[in-house]
Formats: sequence, C-alpha cells, structure tokens
Amino acid sequence: MTTARVIAIPTEEGVLTIRRDQPMSLHTTFRIGGPADFLTRAGSETELRAALDWAERHALPVTVIGGGSNLLVGDRGIRGLVILMRAPGSSLDGRVELVEGDEGARLTVPAQAPISWLGHFTASRGWAGLEWAAGLPGVVGGAVVNNAGAHGGEMAAHLARVELLDLVEKRVVQWSGDRLEARYRYTVLKFEPRPRRWIVLRATFELPRGQPEQLIARAAAYAQWRRRAQPTGACAGSVFTNPPGTFAGYLIEQAGLKGRQVGGVRVSELHGNFFINTGNATAADVRALITLIQEEILRRYGIELVPEIEEIGDD
Ligand SMILES: Cc1cc2nc3c(=O)[nH]c(=O)nc-3n(C[C@H](O)[C@H](O)[C@H](O)COP(=O)(O)OP(=O)(O)OC[C@H]3O[C@@H](n4cnc5c(N)ncnc54)[C@H](O)[C@@H]3O)c2cc1C
Repeated sequence: MTTARVIAIPTEEGVLTIRRDQPMSLHTTFRIGGPADFLTRAGSETELRAALDWAERHALPVTVIGGGSNLLVGDRGIRGLVILMRAPGSSLDGRVELVEGDEGARLTVPAQAPISWLGHFTASRGWAGLEWAAGLPGVVGGAVVNNAGAHGGEMAAHLARVELLDLVEKRVVQWSGDRLEARYRYTVLKFEPRPRRWIVLRATFELPRGQPEQLIARAAAYAQWRRRAQPTGACAGSVFTNPPGTFAGYLIEQAGLKGRQVGGVRVSELHGNFFINTGNATAADVRALITLIQEEILRRYGIELVPEIEEIGDD
C-alpha cells in the first residue's frame, strides 16, 4: 500500500480523499481520541461504496461513524478505515423523498442527514413527530443506531423502515423499524460487536400531520432550551443513561459531584450528566471519571449508572 498521507480515489462523483493518521479528536464532539489509521468522509452512497472497496482491497477493518457526538474514542485511536457518514442539510437536495398524503407523510432521508435539520425540516412542512430533534447534534445514521430522543420523542417512534448495507452478504436489505428492537437508547445495531456487519444507508419515517406554526415554534423552543440548559463545551451529551424513575444528572448533582475533575475532564457545573473536556482530556481521564462517579452513586444510592456514550477504538 502507498505511504502517501493523502490518497485520492476517483469516483463517479469526483474524488474521494482518504487521509492517513487522522486524530479522531478532530472528528468527535468530545474532542478526544487518538489517530485513525485512515479516515474519509462519505457524504453519498457512491463515496461510501468507493471507501468500502478501497478498505476491502487493503484488507482493512471499517468503522462507520456519523457526527461523532455519542462516542469516546480511545487514546490510541482506531485501526483500519474510519468512514464519517455525514453531510450538510443543504447538500441533501434530490436525496430526500417526501410523499405527502392528506393525513400522513412518508419521508426517506439518507443516513448522512443532520438530525437537527430533520427536526426543523419536518416541522416546517407540517409533519409531526420529529421536532424534538431540533438542536440535537449528530446525523440520522447515528441517531437510528442510538435510538436518540428527547422531550418524550425518540427515533424509533416514527421509524417505519431502515435500509442497510449488509457487509457480509454484500447487499442492501430493508428492515422494518421493529427489527431494531429499539428501546431507551438501545438498538440491536448499537450493541453489535465491531467490526460491524450493518451500515445504515437510509431511514424512512411515517409522520402524522400537524400544525406547521405550532411545530416550528416547538422545534425552535427545543433548540433554544438546549442552548440554555446544556453546556456548550466539548462533550458527548449525557454520559450515563437515566436509571428507571430518576435522572443520572440529578443523582450526580445531589451527590455534590458537579465540578469534579480528573485530568482534563470535568463534570459540568450546568448539567451533572455532561462531562466537559477542558482542553487536553484523554479517554483515560474520562474513563477514570466515569468509574469515580459510578462508585460514588452506587455507594450513596445503591444505583448502578450505565454509560450511554459508546467507547470505541484502542487504548
Ligand atoms: C451537546 C449534546 C447533546 C446531546 N443530547 C442528546 C439528547 O438529548 N438525546 C440523545 O439521544 N442523544 C443526545 N446526544 C448524543 C448524540 O447527539 C445522539 O445520540 C446522536 O443521535 C448520535 O448521532 P451521531 O451521528 O453523532 O452518532 P455517532 O456518535 O457518530 O455514532 C453513534 C453510533 O452509531 C454508529 N453509526 C453512525 N452512523 C452510522 C451508519 N450510517 N451506519 C451504521 N452505524 C452508524 C456509530 O458507529 C456508533 O455506534 C447529545 C450529544 C451532545 C454532544
């Protein structure tokens, strides 16, 4: 294989650029993570297939991520090829299918679509059920895998179908939403060992009609609430899932653990379930802070906090 730092692969759409030794800290919202051996961005299915062909030719394992907003990447990075499946909402023209009926709509969007864009787009068209996503980081692929949600809504609630690329049988398959067995921040895709078999290509939602003005106002209010209630620093959202009947952030606050710091990572003063990278945090710091908080909450309340963020890569 070439030792070039930048590899250019011609595709039907132009050129796909693959970079060697790319720090994952540049590609995750936590700003943490060692180098990916190789990294590329696949904004379209053509680019994705070109990237997969290249990885196969070089016998490299593949890791697909979306916005990188729910991940803790190890300090030694990720072996093989990392494919960032993300694209700006403005680039999705012609790749969004909206079939509108009197009472409901069927919307198909690529995995690369930003989830916040989806929330605003559906609200502006008067289709209800996804306005909770306004202001949420990440893209549709990652949100489907994580069954992301907020304000009582979640991806799975209106997900009719997911189109997946099966890397073992090398074909595209359609799954009904039920096959994800989605529940709170869980799908079967999220807990599949890596390297994974399935890549989300597209998601189809069935949405009931709503009042555009009301939906737009709700989406704006949700996005504004995030700006007010959540810290703005480098983080990966909620570190722990909420235990049944209570909130991880509330327990952490009650235990006086806000502001607790290990190395370069600190429990946010604003929201107890958010850890903030103060500038030079490592994955080892985050892991040590997770353990510290888990032990303290178990000791005080007998409750075991379970991480919501996914750990990937090497240490
Ligand atoms: C400030 C902040 C606030 C947040 N608030 C919330 C919240 O309110 N609710 C909530 O649920 N989450 C929240 N999160 C977490 C996160 O934003 C969501 O879970 C988001 O949907 C993850 O999307 P992503 O594209 O960033 O996924 P990533 O973190 O990139 O990936 C998540 C998982 O999906 C896999 N994946 C990504 N794309 C694909 C694909 N196309 N095919 C196959 N696998 C794929 C990855 O391998 C990984 O396993 C927050 C995060 C931040 C930083």
